[in-house]
Amino acid sequence: MTGSTKYIFVTGGVTSSLGKGIISASLAKLLQARGFTVTIQKLDPYINVDPGTLNPYEHGECFVTEDGAETDLDLGHYERFLDVPTSKANNVTTGRIYQNVISKERRGEYLGKTVQVIPHITDEIKAHIQALGRKGIYDFVITEVGGTVGDIESLPYVEAMRQLKWAKGKDCLTIHLTLLPYLGTTGELKTKPTQHSVKELLSLGVQPDVLVCRTEHPMQKGMKEKIALFCNVDAEAVIESRDADTIYDVPLMMQHERLDEVVLKKLGVNTCPDADLNAWKDFLRRYKEPKGEVHIGLVGKYVELKDAYKSIKEALEHAGAANELKVHIKWVHSEKLTAKNVAKHLGGLAGILVAPGFGHRGIEGKIEAIKFARENKVPFLGICLGMQCAVIEFGRNVLGYTDANSTEMNADTMHPVIAMMEEQKQIENKGGTMRLGAYPCKIEDDTLAKQVYRKRDISERHRHRYEFNNAYLKAYEKSGMVASGINPQGKLVEIVEIKGHPWFMGVQFHPEYRSTVAKPHPLFIAFVKAAMSIGVKEVVKAEA
Ligand code: GLN
Repeated sequence: MTGSTKYIFVTGGVTSSLGKGIISASLAKLLQARGFTVTIQKLDPYINVDPGTLNPYEHGECFVTEDGAETDLDLGHYERFLDVPTSKANNVTTGRIYQNVISKERRGEYLGKTVQVIPHITDEIKAHIQALGRKGIYDFVITEVGGTVGDIESLPYVEAMRQLKWAKGKDCLTIHLTLLPYLGTTGELKTKPTQHSVKELLSLGVQPDVLVCRTEHPMQKGMKEKIALFCNVDAEAVIESRDADTIYDVPLMMQHERLDEVVLKKLGVNTCPDADLNAWKDFLRRYKEPKGEVHIGLVGKYVELKDAYKSIKEALEHAGAANELKVHIKWVHSEKLTAKNVAKHLGGLAGILVAPGFGHRGIEGKIEAIKFARENKVPFLGICLGMQCAVIEFGRNVLGYTDANSTEMNADTMHPVIAMMEEQKQIENKGGTMRLGAYPCKIEDDTLAKQVYRKRDISERHRHRYEFNNAYLKAYEKSGMVASGINPQGKLVEIVEIKGHPWFMGVQFHPEYRSTVAKPHPLFIAFVKAAMSIGVKEVVKAEA
């Protein structure tokens, strides 16, 4: 696009969890499908510098970018929808903003001035928003403002947005996402909370240009006009957003509601091609009209909170679509698994995936799940801690190291088969100090990994402090667990597999962060395929 970068803000009102991330990603997809370059950024109003130190119970999964930033899980949606990598710059927190401002103050960069929320904090926020635009590669920067309008903590973000709108005029636009609650007793959708939420935004000096209204039921006749009248927006800019069967329907629903058309018109972009969504529609067809189904167990300690494993769930679904299979995930709580009940919980499954994690809780259950998969020849994929547990299980039950463990769980074990990486030993701070982001990995010939990736050099994203202890590598390889992927510089073991098992792989990295709608990840595709072709035949009966 010729001309300057356009900035689109997405705010939320009435309640949290309305799906600002999905609306942002869907609009971005529609603009991308018209040939524009787009990136999406999330502003988070908490004081943590990044969500890396947050418990998944607080915040769901922590998504990791190529350049090693620990970020909000919405960045996962952005990448899965757009198939364009995000970076550190795509997630900003209040903690990071204040950290930068305070560091500048300490360096004397404010030249004796009193440092204040306005203009110093708001300037820092604006600089972060515009940094993406300044790269000169994006036609559109979509900025999702976390939290709900009216929250004390998001006020500086709304103020920064107000200032940018004022400065940029026609190059800037605000979309406000609200809720139309349904009153069962009268059978009506109510617009009052939307009116109030727009008033709240107006009181902060921001007039929304577009309203997206989340609703369980179709909007009644005349409702768009009514909202338009009360909120000073055009009726065509009141967009209905019905609950969808899947998040992947939302771009098409937004296209049907002409969200992209309205946005482009308001930003003065008049000439552009229609959106080409053929590849997206093809994915949806495979996803919604599967030719078979497969049951996979996901073993983890946060299974009551599905958001903790968001990228894994999505990667399995992408892989299901690639294989034209419906993947049913059975969420298995690792803390509940014992040698006695493992067959009851995992029997009947065609594949077993053991999830990443930190700390001791639930670890013994993960090890039982892996023993079950190994002995019964059920296709197995272990990710990060899941891979480390596979190494521990093999050490204990095949090599006879009865107390084999990771030094994360037992610092005094006689057999530290998983140990802290050398460069991690001196580090004291917890935030942002793990082995993070993309690292290269070399795949060995004649391995399952080679069959899966079909190339020698790959790159995958990491987030861990511990690793396979190479002092044990020879003993493992002699007994059948081989290292099929190695980091070329540090010689760290990145992939293990078991010779003679039909499909058993543990990976130290997180393949789930790289799976997108356009490019489902080869490891997940192969795992789901193996579950269908091998696992279904190998299914072990569940014990009553
Ligand atoms: N806790 C393990 C480590 O730090 C695994 C981390 C993970 O699963 N992401 O190495």
